[in-house]
Amino acid sequence: MVSRYILLQESRRNLKGRCPFHKDVTTSLMVSPEKNIYQCFGCGKGGGPIEFVMAMENKSREEAITLIAKG
Ligand SMILES: [Zn+2]
Repeated sequence: MVSRYILLQESRRNLKGRCPFHKDVTTSLMVSPEKNIYQCFGCGKGGGPIEFVMAMENKSREEAITLIAKG
């Protein structure tokens, strides 16, 4: 889900990439495909796919769920 929006690189079992929620010069955003969660160590944002889509698309929780369901 997250990889649709940002470029991710592999880092052991977790993926990491540049955080889209703050001006990230390193790769502060960690994504765990196993747990289906993300966490930014720069700005502290984190959550699941619903929270991610809500933040990226500026949608309500309901709209985010609909978007994810559509694929
Ligand atoms: Zn961040």
